[in-house]
Amino acid sequence: MPERLYMVIPCYNEQEVLPETAKRLKAKLEDLIQKGRIAPNSRILFVDDGSRDRTWSMIAELHRQDKLFSGVKLSRNRGHQNALLCGLMTAKDLCDVTISMDADLQDDIDVIDGFLEEREKGCDIVYGVRSDRESDTFFKRATAQGFYKAMKALGVDVIYNHADCRLMSRRALEGLAQFPEKNLFLRGMVRLIGYPSAIVTYKRAERFAGESKYPLKKMLSFAWDGITSFSVKPLELLGVAGVAITVGSLLISLYSVLAHLFGWSFRGWSALMGSLWFIAGMLLTAQGILGAYIGKIYAEVKDRPRYLVETILDE
Ligand code: UDP
Ligand code: MG
Repeated sequence: MPERLYMVIPCYNEQEVLPETAKRLKAKLEDLIQKGRIAPNSRILFVDDGSRDRTWSMIAELHRQDKLFSGVKLSRNRGHQNALLCGLMTAKDLCDVTISMDADLQDDIDVIDGFLEEREKGCDIVYGVRSDRESDTFFKRATAQGFYKAMKALGVDVIYNHADCRLMSRRALEGLAQFPEKNLFLRGMVRLIGYPSAIVTYKRAERFAGESKYPLKKMLSFAWDGITSFSVKPLELLGVAGVAITVGSLLISLYSVLAHLFGWSFRGWSALMGSLWFIAGMLLTAQGILGAYIGKIYAEVKDRPRYLVETILDE
């Protein structure tokens, strides 16, 4: 029996690209249904992440015309990770397997074939990995690479060049549902689920239309979230830096005693000022890092909902 597939597509102000995405995904799914690789009641689930443009009315219209399209509307913008989780959790109770992708057609739709092949071999999770980053700007490529390297150095298990394009079985989704955290970094969380998994590579294209919804500020905060949600190394490094500075300052004290004994004139005013400021800076940085973790604990303790669903269109 072919499995019931739900494609999960988070959308935030994607009116420019949505018609094309819907058209291409529909063609792909109809082909797969016809070939008997997925169940005829498979669906394309668009998640509207509180868009301010016509995205939701377009999704509703697609659903009205063709029940292949389903939709979930969040009560407001909650960000890509929350929107994706909402889609996955909505699909969890409706299907056997999900595939998540961005709305902007940057992920190659034909990667679905490879995903399903691995699924047929018994995998619960299949990670889509970009084979290259030619379509990205130099800046995005460099920052992304730096990010993966930093994550690795900090001991976080992430798959290089894997974003949120992946297949997950119902069993894997039920595993994900047991993660209560509010600071979402899905690509790290999914690695913790386990179960048989595989990797399929694909070429990442340029955004088909519209603008990136991930400006630099959001990208940096996402990277920082990823690090602080999955690694306590920065906290440990604070201790290391503290010890190093203490040892360093002992040496400096020793030097100043010697300088006094041997009558070397004291000329270190600027060095003194420099080190003062340096230490003040280090202390503030350390407090900032501590603050970042405490902020996360605060968010987890408040236990607020990650998203609220306003409407579900699914038949
Ligand atoms: N997105 C979202 N909520 C947001 C920002 C983005 O659901 O607050 C969606 C967006 O519609 C797209 C995906 O997340 O489907 C990735 O966003 P984008 O393509 O703008 O990011 P980039 O590829 O530039 O990193
Ligand atoms: Mg994109």
